[in-house]
Amino acid sequence: MSDTRHCRILIIGSGPAGYTAAVYAARAMLAPVLVQGMEPGGQLTITTDVENWPGDINVQGPELMQRMEAHAREVGTEIITDHIATLELGTRPFTAVSDGGIRYSADALVLATGAKARWLGLESEDRLKGFGVSACATCDGFFYRGQEVAVVGGGNTAVEEALFLTNFAEKVTLVHRRDSLRAEKILQERLFRHPKIEVIWDHVVEEVLGAGTPPGVTGLRLKHAQTGAARDLPCTGAFIAIGHAPASELVAGQLELHNGGYVWVRPGTTETSLPGVFAAGDITDHVYRQAVTSAGMGCMAALDAERWLAEQAG
Ligand code: FAD
Ligand code: NAP
Repeated sequence: MSDTRHCRILIIGSGPAGYTAAVYAARAMLAPVLVQGMEPGGQLTITTDVENWPGDINVQGPELMQRMEAHAREVGTEIITDHIATLELGTRPFTAVSDGGIRYSADALVLATGAKARWLGLESEDRLKGFGVSACATCDGFFYRGQEVAVVGGGNTAVEEALFLTNFAEKVTLVHRRDSLRAEKILQERLFRHPKIEVIWDHVVEEVLGAGTPPGVTGLRLKHAQTGAARDLPCTGAFIAIGHAPASELVAGQLELHNGGYVWVRPGTTETSLPGVFAAGDITDHVYRQAVTSAGMGCMAALDAERWLAEQAG
């Protein structure tokens, strides 16, 4: 390893949580170093219209993230385009080694590596992402006013997305691969009671159907999980809600995780199970998963880290 860098605070991740933590840490004169990862700007760079970021009635996701990056840089963050390959949290200072061969040592660490929606893995799904296929009803539901949409999945997220979509869509069909949901009973009751929602049980998606230029979703080709019988479900939007995968591989076995891999933090803080390591954004949030909540947690992480570093020094 040719290069070693020491920093007071190392921020891993360049989504809203990472950049906000960077702005606060830089303004606290902690000279933060932020490593961007494979997706500089995070999840919002793969979307178009963002219509719920306060202060912007409509902003393009990539543009918003460029502004956040510029802000973090302007106030004194060193931003590095690299990916952290390993993290060693057993001794302090913590060490991180990047793909680019840099070894970082850090007095405090902010983990802001986000979470990724799980996808079905179909070629047609991939092709129509952003053209009717979405994994975020909160983000995209508004575009389906008066239309028929489908939600795939049977957990809390799928049920919440289906209920949320009734605010816009004429009809919502939940497609689930089994004959019972794993969502909380109270959510199930709301779902079954809702006049706009229909459930198709025991079916998996074989193909997302699409047509036109630019392409748009026209339906889902479904297959019965037991009999194999095929049927088509007409819809103009397909919301895939089969779970999210938090990007916590770096800290698995080193920090307490919960709810299927999310980094546990002490309620009301960003403190993880290890002093000096703070987590913000989707990596720790299995409930809200929004840009604004991630940014809020990024602010909290920087403030928590600043306080912790001051305590160590004093
Ligand atoms: P992310 O944005 O997920 O960023 C994670 C960062 O970590 C990335 O920069 C990645 O490169 C980095 N990283 C990961 N692993 C490593 C590593 N090993 N080393 C270094 N870096 C690493 N929310 C809204 O509020 N409004 C919307 O309209 C909206 N639209 C969305 C549309 C889509 C298509 C998607 C997928 C999400 C949308 N969301 C929206 C949700 C929002 O994008 C997320 O809640 C938010 O981006 C989470 O921010 P984050 O900082 O926690 O992580
Ligand atoms: P989840 O609980 O893991 O549910 C995923 C659902 O998708 C399951 O019903 C699963 O089917 C289905 N699924 C998975 N892979 C599939 C595939 N390839 N094809 C078809 N269906 C597939 O995920 P989640 O709903 O996103 O919830 C994640 C965590 O966040 C959970 O702990 C949940 O409680 C929590 N959460 C909480 C709230 C809340 O408190 N309000 C809201 C949202 C999420 P099977 O059932 O057959 O496995």
